[in-house]
Amino acid sequence: MARYTDAVCRLCRRDGMKLFLKGSKCFSDKCPIEKRNFAPGQHGKDRKAKIVGYGLQLREKQKAKRIYFTQEGQFRNYFEKAARAKGVTGEKLLQQLERRLDNVVYRLGLASSRRQARQLVRHGHIQVDSRKVNIPSYEVSVGEEVAIREGSRKLPILEQAKDFASHQITPNWLTVDRDNYKGRITGLPKREDIQLPVNEQLIVELYSK
Ligand code: SF4
Repeated sequence: MARYTDAVCRLCRRDGMKLFLKGSKCFSDKCPIEKRNFAPGQHGKDRKAKIVGYGLQLREKQKAKRIYFTQEGQFRNYFEKAARAKGVTGEKLLQQLERRLDNVVYRLGLASSRRQARQLVRHGHIQVDSRKVNIPSYEVSVGEEVAIREGSRKLPILEQAKDFASHQITPNWLTVDRDNYKGRITGLPKREDIQLPVNEQLIVELYSK
């Protein structure tokens, strides 16, 4: 599947809810969901059909994929790994997604959106336990330290991120030292720690057919 390159706000409008893909804009009155909360396109306003069954399951999967910027094949791999693991499959799935390096950078408040976090990783500004890692899907393990590399700490987007993060709550499973641009995973995220508008059980039902 090709990477999505259109305006990301259309994705929120398609789902009819905020998916928080654009950092501080999502919390301002410039957010299109505040002004035009209907599907994009010429007839978006008229399409109000209630989605049920398979459509609903599909919608939940798309939503999770969009939030974490993953593609279909990769998302299915996450599911298959979660299904093989001990425990509740839906929770295991979300745990893997949360431990993606780009998501951890975002949750630590080192970037103001997952998209920006992904860019920081891709451009080589991030290190894990003092090693440069430029793979956004890298799965961070409990105990590992994630930091902005020394030479990258003057990037202007980090100041914006600091400002943005001062209004955010750091999840229980992370500790953060924002002054030194780093943080650590201290445990696995539990379902109640993952504040997401996603019903993961519907995704499990979809893939279990
Ligand atoms: Fe979604 Fe954020 Fe765009 Fe609003 S500003 S539509 S929440 S990505």
